[in-house]
Amino acid sequence: MKRIKVNTQTPYEVIVGEGAVNHLAPFVMDAFSNAANIAIVADSNVEPLYADKIERLLTPSAKRIERISFKAGEKSKTIETYALLLSALASFRFSRKDIIIALGGGVTGDLAGFAASSYMRGIDFIQIPTSLLAMVDSSVGGKTGVNLDEGKNLAGAFHQPRAVFCDTSFLKTLPEIWRIDAMGEVLKYAVLADPKLFSRLENAPTAEINEDEIARCISIKRDIVETDEKESGERKLLNLGHTYAHAIEKESDFSISHGCAVATGIALASQKAFSLGLLSKTDLNRIISLVEKIGYKSASPFDENSLLKSMLIDKKAENGEIDFVLPTGIGKCTVKRIKL
Ligand code: MG
Repeated sequence: MKRIKVNTQTPYEVIVGEGAVNHLAPFVMDAFSNAANIAIVADSNVEPLYADKIERLLTPSAKRIERISFKAGEKSKTIETYALLLSALASFRFSRKDIIIALGGGVTGDLAGFAASSYMRGIDFIQIPTSLLAMVDSSVGGKTGVNLDEGKNLAGAFHQPRAVFCDTSFLKTLPEIWRIDAMGEVLKYAVLADPKLFSRLENAPTAEINEDEIARCISIKRDIVETDEKESGERKLLNLGHTYAHAIEKESDFSISHGCAVATGIALASQKAFSLGLLSKTDLNRIISLVEKIGYKSASPFDENSLLKSMLIDKKAENGEIDFVLPTGIGKCTVKRIKL
C-alpha cells in the first residue's frame, strides 16, 4: 500500500494498493466521527458492481447513506446531470456537514466533485476511482466540472477531495478497452517527466500497469499540482496532448474516448514540437512509435481546419492564441503560446 500526500490548500492523502477501500471507513470515522450523511454517486455501470460493497463498508461510520446513479458515459457529463445531483442532495436534506463519495471513473469524479464544490457553497467529497484512467489522473488534483454543447469542461470548479482511495482490485474486472483508454494518460506522465517509465512502456507496451506505476503517475501529478493548484503556470504541463484531444473528442461527438484522443494528441504535439525545432527526430520517432505500439493512432482522423475550429473555443484559447504543451525530449516538456 502506498500513501501519497498532496499538499494543496487543504492537504489530503491518496492511498494506492489492493484493498485500499478498507481504509475508507476508518478515515470517515476519524474525519467526520459518525455524524455525516453520505451520498454515494456512481454511474449505471459501476453502481450495480460496487455500490453495495462500499455501502456495507461505510455503514458503521455513517449517519445515513444515500445513493445517486446516472447513465454511464461522457454524454452524461452535462449541466442537466449536475442539476439532478444537486436536487437529489437537497431532497435528501443534506447539510454542509454531509459528504459525497464519487465512486467510478473520470466522468463520475468530475460530476460528483462539481456537485460537491457548489452544493450549499461546497461540501466535502471523497474519490474512489474504479478505472485506471481515474486512478492515474483525474481523481487527483481537484479539477471538477461538466461539458457544455460548446466544448469540454467549460463549466467547473477547483475543489480538492478530502481523500482518494485507489483500490487496484477494481482493475481486475476492468474491460480491456478501458485499460487501453487509460494508457493515454500514463503515456502523458512518461513523456512529461519520466524517461524510465517511458522505456518500460517501450519494452512492454501492453503489459499491465502495476501499483508502483500508478503511484508514480500520481506523484508526478502531485508535484505539479502542488506548485500551481489553480493552473496559472506549471500546471498547464498536465495538458500535454489535451488541446488536440479535446478537439478530436468533440469532432468525433465523443465516439473517440478521452485516453485515445490524448495519445493521438501527444503524437500531434510532438510533431508540432519537431516542426518548431524543439524536439529531435529520434525522440519524435520514439514517441510516435510508442503511441502506435500501445494501440493508438498517431495521426488525427480529422483535418487540421476542423480541429482548429474546435481549439478556438477551447476554454484555454485567448484572442486566437493557445498554450500548447510541447515535448522537448523524453521526460521533458515546455509550454509555448501559439497563434491558431
Ligand atoms: Mg485528461
